[in-house]
Amino acid sequence: MKRHGLVDLNEAVQNPGKRLAFDIETDLDEEEDIDLLAPLAGWIEAVSTGNALIVEAEFKTRVVVECARCGEPLEYDVEFRMDDDFPVKGIPSCYASDGYAEVVCDEAYPLFDKNGLMLDAYCRQGLLVNYPTQPLCSGSWDTPCPKSVTNDSLESKGGHPAMQVLEQFRSTQE
Ligand SMILES: [Zn+2]
Repeated sequence: MKRHGLVDLNEAVQNPGKRLAFDIETDLDEEEDIDLLAPLAGWIEAVSTGNALIVEAEFKTRVVVECARCGEPLEYDVEFRMDDDFPVKGIPSCYASDGYAEVVCDEAYPLFDKNGLMLDAYCRQGLLVNYPTQPLCSGSWDTPCPKSVTNDSLESKGGHPAMQVLEQFRSTQE
């Protein structure tokens, strides 16, 4: 099942102890600084303790990064797990007929719209902290890069090879 935009977690927020599970697949189209070769796919589960909404997730995807030394594009499989809790204020509606509990999100940028989790923003946060750091095409600083690529040769071929692959991928998705 494909879900874009908001993942509605209100049922979990209003019913502490009730666990919701969602299958997730997103291309992170809005995130211009992220180059995905495959959709970000996985699952999200959420359960409220009454005071906090616990969100767990697991995702995998394939990304393009540049070699930290020569700039050669490299492909990486990235798999990661997320485990967050967000404070909840108010009385869940299962405890009081006029009750309404709501997630309080005090992150630097919003992850929730009322009790809907902003999927792409949430996935982006997890992906960025799990990106390969200082990737090298030779696998080691002791081994030279097999080839060095100049900007001139990239431009004469019509753009960065990684971006061409990405464009092809995107056009087949639409
Ligand atoms: Zn390299």
